Amino acid sequence: MNGFGNWLRAFVKKLRAGFGRFMQGRYGGDKLNMAMLWVAFALYLLHHILPFALIKLSLIGLSYVLVILAALRFFSRNVYKRYQENRKYLRFLERLKDREHRHFDCPRCHQPVRVPRGKGKIAITCPKCKEKFIRKT
Ligand SMILES: [Zn+2]
Repeated sequence: MNGFGNWLRAFVKKLRAGFGRFMQGRYGGDKLNMAMLWVAFALYLLHHILPFALIKLSLIGLSYVLVILAALRFFSRNVYKRYQENRKYLRFLERLKDREHRHFDCPRCHQPVRVPRGKGKIAITCPKCKEKFIRKT
């Protein structure tokens, strides 16, 4: 039994080292991937509950697509691009949580601009390129 335990430990160690080598230079997991997998899981559960065949099919299709995309991101070698995607997702989450401000992108240079909510129509000056634009807050 002890011999088997040792063998198993060595095997797991080898497996880990192999996986580590395989993952070298690859992106791995992040918050966006986790979110994609959770959404996929939720869609999969929903497809059990909802009655219509067409909706069922599209839900399960979408959940498969999300899982495949998450896997592709996990094993991706384009680390920089994946990192940028995750950053965009995190920024999106932050905007959702922020109830006191409204967020706009400058129409000229796409710089994100944050203004207080509930001030009516205001003229916003981009802090980067000084472009002026009017938005409802
Ligand atoms: Zn600008």
